[in-house]
Amino acid sequence: MGESALGKTLTFRRGVHPHEGVGEKRATGAKPIEAVPAPALAAIPLLQHAGAPCKPLVKPGERVYLGQKIGAPDGFVSAAVHASVSGRVKGIQPRIIAGGRRVAAVILENDGLDEWDPSLAPLADDAGAEKLLEAVREAGIVGLGGATFPTHVKLSPPKDKPIDMVILNGAECEPFLSADHRVMLEEADAVLDGLRLAARIVGAQTLLIGVEDNKPDAARSLQTAAGADARVLSVRAKYPQGSEKQLIQALTGRRVPSGGLPMDAGCVVINASTAAAISRAVRKGRPLIERVLTVDGEVGEGKNLRVRLGTEIGEAVACCGGAKEGVNKIVLGGPMMGQCAYDLHTPVTKGVSGILLFKDDAPEKPLGNCVRCGGCVNVCPVGLMPLTLYALARKGFYDRARDAQHLMDCIECGACAYQCPARLPLVQYIRAAKGALRRAQAR
Ligand code: SF4
Ligand code: SF4
Repeated sequence: MGESALGKTLTFRRGVHPHEGVGEKRATGAKPIEAVPAPALAAIPLLQHAGAPCKPLVKPGERVYLGQKIGAPDGFVSAAVHASVSGRVKGIQPRIIAGGRRVAAVILENDGLDEWDPSLAPLADDAGAEKLLEAVREAGIVGLGGATFPTHVKLSPPKDKPIDMVILNGAECEPFLSADHRVMLEEADAVLDGLRLAARIVGAQTLLIGVEDNKPDAARSLQTAAGADARVLSVRAKYPQGSEKQLIQALTGRRVPSGGLPMDAGCVVINASTAAAISRAVRKGRPLIERVLTVDGEVGEGKNLRVRLGTEIGEAVACCGGAKEGVNKIVLGGPMMGQCAYDLHTPVTKGVSGILLFKDDAPEKPLGNCVRCGGCVNVCPVGLMPLTLYALARKGFYDRARDAQHLMDCIECGACAYQCPARLPLVQYIRAAKGALRRAQAR
């Protein structure tokens, strides 16, 4: 294990250093979070998480409170959704979310009153682990770094997987994004509180916090809030430092086995904004109705914004001076792992950590051929052979890619594709192969 944030900087093997642009990350990271006005119409998709979509709990015409549960999880790996405004249900209509999937969404007409659901209440300070876990589940909390895995599932490891360590993920390694940076600075006490609550739920004694060395102010802020019960460790600003397995390796030296999860290394990793959401759920009885995200790229002024879920991304962009002329690409999340949006009407969902606008006016170049440079192999943080996986995926040899080349261990970070001088769509083919195998397994 490494030293404090003031000491040695820790890291994992391989990875890349994506160009952040001149000061892009620092520019938004230095600006306090601003609140976007609540939308007149909020579209709350019933699928905002990894897992099964929710079942609607409301009907058109019904009145809803702010924070009222309007979608119930349908299965263990699923997460409730809540009204992000008070008002009336206009209908349940399809909406296209990040990545292009069409899902059912509850459309709410905002009455402007922000009348909270009176049944919401904080938990007592001495609440036990079960009650705390129930509060996290009821609040619909998911991993806000972008993975959107339901947090209550992450905090429910099986009995034969004891957890001794809870790790706060303060890496935020994607270029452009600085929402977690601001949350760690402005809400350090809530972040630490959420981390401690997560540790209470899983029975862990050790609390570690990993912050990239390009955010020393956040590291100091967390260290002040942490006191003696958690250690802040500095990790190198490198991509994908925020990937759970890479962060565990850097901070603890432990390795998550092939095909395994952090719990197989005795760890649970919680993103900084997720930790703050856990604290709000327990201490204030507040479900997840909003999130902090970064708007940057081809906009008037890059900012970090607090946005109600269900707000159209165009409303957040308007708060940043609007899109510049010629924008033709919208990425939700970071540029390495984010998903495309078709238009500015896409609703903000739980996993949208960033709204990045780009102008891509370079003429489309044909894909090159693999020049056997080995670049993709040299940067793969998992130690895979991306070029081999790509070749097998292209030919449809998915089983061979899984069994002989550990396809399912790919974390889809995109470092290989970023590095490839031939611009081969390595991660795209790998992701498609993984998806095909998962679908075949589910049949
Ligand atoms: S093969 Fe997967 S894990 Fe390795 S660099 Fe490519 S996307 Fe990342
Ligand atoms: S980085 Fe691209 S060109 Fe180089 S070996 Fe990998 S696939 Fe081939």
